[in-house]
Amino acid sequence: MSEPTSPAAGLAEAVARLADAVARLAPCVVLTGAGVSTDSGLPDFRSASGVWRRYDPMEYATIDAFRRDPVKVWDFYGRRLRLLERAEPNEAHRALARLEAAGVVEAVVTQNVDRLHELAGSRNVVEVHGSMRTSSCPRCREVVPFHELGRLLDRHPAPPCPRCGAILKPDVVMFGEAMPEAETARAFELARAARLMLVVGSSLEVYPAAGLPAETLAAGGALAIVNRGTTQYDAEALVTVDAAAAETLAALARELLGPPA
Ligand code: ZN
Repeated sequence: MSEPTSPAAGLAEAVARLADAVARLAPCVVLTGAGVSTDSGLPDFRSASGVWRRYDPMEYATIDAFRRDPVKVWDFYGRRLRLLERAEPNEAHRALARLEAAGVVEAVVTQNVDRLHELAGSRNVVEVHGSMRTSSCPRCREVVPFHELGRLLDRHPAPPCPRCGAILKPDVVMFGEAMPEAETARAFELARAARLMLVVGSSLEVYPAAGLPAETLAAGGALAIVNRGTTQYDAEALVTVDAAAAETLAALARELLGPPA
């Protein structure tokens, strides 16, 4: 049995083990979930303070709900958009962008729709649940960018297509919708080729993203997990760090690359 350590010493030791694995098996593929964005002021979905405790996803985030009552569903997505207008990348996003620029991270596969990896400077980002970056018209396929959508929401509870007037749909994958084909295929390809998959801030409960670590393991790759709370893959991971993404990844980047410029 190891000696009990202070939380700070425990984290430093876990980060050292994580840095060792990443250095040995780089470049790694990173899979991120909502936990990577909580330090940017965006609540996660499934924790005790998560979005789904206040909004039943069956009423606010399914494609059937959207078709039935788009005004109600836009009440939810409109609030999300307002939060995103103010949100900025945090240390976790910035550390991943830095690690990618240094060749330590090959790609970031994300379940998030918040654009924060891109805003932090990550270049190879695979968004498996779509993005709030754009909304599209279900009738005429007009595409409306994020900032224009904000202006439409200033005047309408459910934003109309500027071309034909139909209610726009955010380009995120709602429950009951098919996953984007190219992004999903790319995510599975990256997972199978990864020598190390680093999971950050995902409880690995929502498929198909939750199936990606199994692909890496089946192909002989290793797994490292940084997440508050447990996941179904903890027993198979080389390293698990039960801590906040921002603090952990900032420390990882410092350990591998030195202090940020
Ligand atoms: Zn239209």
